[in-house]
Amino acid sequence: MKTRRFAAHRHPNFRGAAALRWHLQPPLRNIKLLKSVETGVTRVAFIGLGVMGYPMAGHLARAAHAVTVFNRTTSKAERWIAEYRGEAARTPRAAAHAAAVVFSCVGNDDDLREVVSGADGAFAGMAPGSLFVDHSTTSARVARELAVLAAERQIEFIDAPVSGGQVGAEKGVLTIMAGGNEAAYQQAAPLLGAYAKSVRRIGPVGAGQLTKMVNQICCAGVIQGLAEGLNFGLQAGLDMEEVVAVIANGAAQSWQMDNRAHTMLNGEYAFGFAVDWMRKDLGIVLDEARRNGADLPTTAVIDQFFGELQRRQRNRWDTSSLMTLLRDR
Ligand code: NAP
Repeated sequence: MKTRRFAAHRHPNFRGAAALRWHLQPPLRNIKLLKSVETGVTRVAFIGLGVMGYPMAGHLARAAHAVTVFNRTTSKAERWIAEYRGEAARTPRAAAHAAAVVFSCVGNDDDLREVVSGADGAFAGMAPGSLFVDHSTTSARVARELAVLAAERQIEFIDAPVSGGQVGAEKGVLTIMAGGNEAAYQQAAPLLGAYAKSVRRIGPVGAGQLTKMVNQICCAGVIQGLAEGLNFGLQAGLDMEEVVAVIANGAAQSWQMDNRAHTMLNGEYAFGFAVDWMRKDLGIVLDEARRNGADLPTTAVIDQFFGELQRRQRNRWDTSSLMTLLRDR
């Protein structure tokens, strides 16, 4: 196996010769066997150590699972294994080798296809009976497409996009919306608890991504509404910190108001959930709406506002920077 470092022997739940035997077993054919009976440790792999994946994989390691990571830019994987106990592999396939559950959190549909399929992809390294859980935000179509590829290898596939942002990932309080087979979901759910406060299976493969689309439609409208409200108050000469303090206790309250109103009033945007990511997500949403016939008149307009932020090189700013289009005259 192409691994950078084998540090499992330093794992708190690993004990001497028994632990070493566990590590040296050949690839096993049953997901239940991939959990060490003696220790309760599950061997897992995590692909994609970005803003979200890095701390998520870290929570799995802290929950005493045996984690092998893969990241395209190897320096991030090296930083990760220096910070947490675990191993780093050179390819997704090597990371996935002998893992009971393989997680991914990469960028878009094509990125996911790249780490999953092909000779060095994760599926090539996974044993029949193992489970793949994808946390990227993608189309429902790619989730279904990869579930078919997985089924050909007797691998279960779950689409499990997340909400809660970088802070939610770091604090381990993400919300996860899952799509997939109920039995596979039941096997994944206890592991997801390492970094989530709320995990729910919504339906078959693709249902997790469709739920995330609902989430993004709601967020886009709320952010634009908040920006227009704050801008209106400023134009009217109101003390907006006072205004927010009172209306945040009424029907206008939202996560965006609680977490972003203050920074929007201060003109702070160099953090948070990037405009580029939201534009990608709304592209997926609008594409899906063309298929299912849903009208998204407001979302389509707000998508154009995000496009304008990209044109003004504000693409890495937080989505609350919609406010700047109203303030810049
Ligand atoms: P990020 O910081 O840009 O990290 C992306 C990760 O994917 C990196 O590890 C990157 O590797 C890897 N990657 C991308 N394309 C790849 C490819 N073709 N082959 C191999 N690896 C590839 O992104 P993030 O913020 O963690 O977001 C990850 C996913 O979560 C996205 O789908 C995003 O929409 C979703 N999400 C993000 C947030 C948020 O607040 N950031 C919230 C909810 C959901 P390198 O290090 O080599 O670039």
